[in-house]
This record gives sequence, structure tokens and C-alpha cells, in this order.
Amino acid sequence: MTAALVCAVEGLDVLLCEKSDRAGGTSATSAGTIWVPGTRQAREAGFGDDGDDVRRYLDSLIGAADDGRRAAYLATGPETVDYLARNSEVKFQLYARHPDYLTNRPGATMAGRALAPVPFDGRLLGADFALVRPPIGEFMALGGMTIGRDDIEPLARPFGSLAHFRRLLSLLARHASDRLRHPRGTRLLMGNALVARLFFSLRRRNVPIWFGASLRELTMREGRVTGAVLSSGGGTVRVTARCGVVLATGGFGGSVERLNDHVRPPLAHAVAFEGAAGDGIRIARAAGAGFEGDHESPVFWTPVSGTGWLRGGRGAFPHLALDRAKPGVIAVNSAGRRFVDEAVSYHDFVLGMHRAHESVPSIPAWLVCDRPALEAYGLGRVPPGRRSLRRYLASGYLVEAPMLDALARRIGADAAGLSDAVERNNRFAASGIDEDFGKGSTDFDRHNGDPRHGPNPCLGPIATPPYYAMALYPSTLGSSVGLRGDADGRVLSAQGVPIAGLYACGNDMASIMRGTYPGPGITLGPGMVFAYRAAMAIAKG
Ligand SMILES: Cc1cc2nc3c(=O)[nH]c(=O)nc-3n(C[C@H](O)[C@H](O)[C@H](O)COP(=O)(O)OP(=O)(O)OC[C@H]3O[C@@H](n4cnc5c(N)ncnc54)[C@H](O)[C@@H]3O)c2cc1C
Repeated sequence: MTAALVCAVEGLDVLLCEKSDRAGGTSATSAGTIWVPGTRQAREAGFGDDGDDVRRYLDSLIGAADDGRRAAYLATGPETVDYLARNSEVKFQLYARHPDYLTNRPGATMAGRALAPVPFDGRLLGADFALVRPPIGEFMALGGMTIGRDDIEPLARPFGSLAHFRRLLSLLARHASDRLRHPRGTRLLMGNALVARLFFSLRRRNVPIWFGASLRELTMREGRVTGAVLSSGGGTVRVTARCGVVLATGGFGGSVERLNDHVRPPLAHAVAFEGAAGDGIRIARAAGAGFEGDHESPVFWTPVSGTGWLRGGRGAFPHLALDRAKPGVIAVNSAGRRFVDEAVSYHDFVLGMHRAHESVPSIPAWLVCDRPALEAYGLGRVPPGRRSLRRYLASGYLVEAPMLDALARRIGADAAGLSDAVERNNRFAASGIDEDFGKGSTDFDRHNGDPRHGPNPCLGPIATPPYYAMALYPSTLGSSVGLRGDADGRVLSAQGVPIAGLYACGNDMASIMRGTYPGPGITLGPGMVFAYRAAMAIAKG
């Protein structure tokens, strides 16, 4: 969508083809954050992000070798954000605080690099609102109200303060009025706001969009991509592309089958949109494109809990930031033992799960807490606050027991191990130091802890029954490995030569982060920047 929009702004004839019946793919269901260091928004907020710091940070994670794409990304990121703001409704704002994910590395920051799409009023889209893919059911409440991070506390504790109560009333009033006219809430946040803004801007530029139009193959003449064959409306359509074809079919993060070609042990859940099934990569490879597969991790990971019981859900709740880091919440494996700092990023948490699984079965792992922690912070799809747990317990999503040894039996974990893990956790909670895994020892950990809790905002006792457990499985937010590309989004052949007329962006192109996860927004940020660079390269001819 970004590539199409920029091409349209630059005066080219554009056709956007979407396989499904709605716009947005995984992006529409994401948090919508982009990691773009050095923006105008950051400077205006007083974050003079020194380019050297960003480079040191990325070098420490990915290594210093760069095929030119990383430098191009850093150089063009701020320009991309400004260009879109000037020429379209695609607008971003800086998070006041959203740290990099490895704040103990040189050059890391606590804020200034992560931007959120400005919320969008879906009503502006008119009938087109129905064409924006909704967020996953796991992130909505009351039949279609999107819940942003700032909405959680007012919804959980409406009587906690006057401000909470007012906020709740305003959310409910808006949602009730929305539901009289629309199938879901029109207050669009996060990835849904991003996609709605892109879609709105494309409509304003009169860019033709074909829904239900699926790329089948690329047409080529004398080594140059000259167009595409699409299946559409039950037939086949050939489209000629004078300047180029940009692949943006989302990598293969939504297809359990494709993911299992790359990951071990096999996955059961994919939380990304199922339409992101590797089409673009497969079709480009058939046309001679090279594949970059030597990443630290082939995919971007997140732990999920199974929500097959939730109507309208994707079947998996991604445990991104809300529960694992909180005090009084630990993760244990089948030995009943902790195996990782629970507060690390979702990607690193799953890598920890995999490491532990090599010696002790750790898939599933279990989040364990007591009643006060459950009420204070919630767990997965179980929101915080005092409420009936009946449906969560009845579905087996949440496991409850009056004693720790009974909980261990119910989840098939070693009871002595669990008792020891909890005893150690409680000791660490009192001293404020996690001697085993360092939970709460980094700024990033503490950011997602509870700032009101001390001495360590991520460590609290597990001592007040009943006790709870929830199974966690590895899943993915998207694929990292993908097509070989250059700094202008040109797809390279297996020999490293650009294939004339063929471009890729988003997860179709191999990630410049090479399977590491430096911070929030490291897939959508590069996705948009390389879409912009590809469009500009096409426009320049
Ligand atoms: C819960 C969640 C939260 C996330 N939060 C963030 C975040 O905050 N920041 C971030 O950077 N990343 C985030 N991610 C990851 C991010 O959403 C994805 O990496 C990103 O959306 C991929 O974008 P894309 O444009 O490559 O693909 P998509 O957004 O999936 O778009 C691909 C589109 O191509 C279409 N398509 C597929 N095949 C064909 C075909 N043959 N012909 C025509 N069309 C086709 C699909 O239908 C789809 O609409 C999150 C992921 C999840 C699941």
C-alpha cells in the first residue's frame, strides 16, 4: 500500500492487487508501530538521536556487515515519514516512552525511535470502512471495540478514579453509537489506523484497487519482468507493467505449513494473517530470484496462548508486553523450573523457550501466578480486575488450583521443581534481585513491569492462593528470511544481479534485521521505508 501510494503521488499509473476481500493483511492486525530513528517528531520532542548510536546499537546485535540496505534504511527513514505526512493522511506520532528491546546494548534508547500511527476515524472511509481488515478478536472487546494500551486500566478498574470512569463512559458512548451503524467500532488504533490511513490516502489519489485478485505468476521478456498474471473473479487476467511490479504479499508468517518448512520444533499456531502464505517469495523464486535464508532466526517470534474458545479470534493470543514482565508472574517448563528472564522481548522469550527445550520439555511453557497478580495485571486474554473466571477455566485456557502441588499436577509439571521455583522467586522478590535470570535488571524489563511495585518492578511474591497457570506456545509475528534485495527494493537473482522490473518490500524481502529483534516496529518500519525507496526508484526510471 505504501509503494502504491508513493508511486501514485509521483505521478505513475498504479494498480494495487489484493488477494483477499479486505485491505491490510497482518499489518491491519498489528500494533502498527514503526521503528524509525532520527525523525522530525523525535527531534521536536528533544531526542537528538545520534546516527552513531543507532549504528552502534544495530552493529552490536546484527554485526557490522551491511549490504547497503541498513545504511539506506537509516538514511531514508525520517524522509519517508515526512513524505507520507506531507503527501497523504499517513501520519505518525512519537511514543513518549517505548524502549529498544535490548537496552543493555551500546547505543540503545528508552524512547525516540518508535512511532505509532495517529488514531483514525473509520467513519471517514464511508462504505470503504467495511473493506479494512479488522483487528484480531483477541484485541477487541464488546463485539468490535479495539482496546488500546491506554484503555486497559479504565476498562479494568472503572471506579479506580474519576478520570477512569469518564474515559470508560466516553469509550462506551462512542462504541454504542458506532454499533448502531457499523459492524464494529470505528475508533481505529494501531495497525488498523495505519492501514485505514493508507487505504483512505489511496482512495483520495484514485488508485485502482482490485480485491480478490491473486498474483499467480510474473511475465518476463528478455530477463525483465513485464507484468503479472492474476486470478480474479474466477478467471485469469494479464496485467502489463511498464515500469515494474512491487511484491508485497507479506512473506509466509501466516502459513503454519510454510513456517514449518523453516522452524523446529514444528508450530501449531500462526498469529499473522493466513493470507501471508509465501506467494510472492515462491513466484519470484520461480522467476530466478535469490533467497536470503541465513538469518539468526528465520522468523520473528512471539509466545501465544491458545484462544480457540474465543469467537472471532485468530486462535492465539500474542503475549507481547502486558503480563510476562509483571511482578508475581513467572514462566516454568515441565520441570516446574524457570528457564528465562520472563520480561525480555517476545522474540527473545521464545528463543529462551527453544534453548530450554533442548534439554527439558519447555513447549508448552506455563505462566504461573497467584490471585492478586491475576487481578492486578490479567494474564493473556484474561483481563485485569475482579471478575468471574468461569469461561476461562471451563475452556481450560486458565488452570486453577488451591495449592502449588495441585497446580503442578494439573499442568503436568514437576511439583518439587515448581515449589522450589516459587520459593526462589519469592526470595528474589524480597531482595529485588533475580539471581537466576536477572528479571527486572534492564530498563526494558522495568518498562513493562509495574512502576508502583518495589524493590524490583518485575519481581513479586507468588503466595496467595488460588494459583493459576496458562500454557504458552511459540508462534510468529512474521517471517524474517525472504527474497534477496538491494537498497532500492530491487529483487536480486541468486547470482546477486537485479532482476529488471521486479521489486519487493515488507516481509517478502529478507529483513535487514537478519532475524534479530532490536525494537518495536522493526518489520513495518523497514517495510514502509523500502516501499518508499522502491517507488522512488521506479519513478526515477
Ligand atoms: C499481533 C501482531 C502485532 C504486531 N505488531 C507489530 C508492530 O507494532 N510493528 C511491526 O513492525 N510489526 C508488527 N507485527 C509484525 C507485522 O505486522 C508484519 O511483519 C507486517 O504486517 C508484514 O507486512 P507486509 O506488508 O509484509 O504483509 P501484510 O500486511 O500481511 O500484507 C500482505 C498482503 O498481501 C496479500 N497477498 C498475499 N498473497 C497475495 C497474492 N498472491 N496476490 C495478491 N495479494 C496477496 C495479503 O492478503 C495481504 O493483504 C505484528 C504482528 C502481529 C501478528
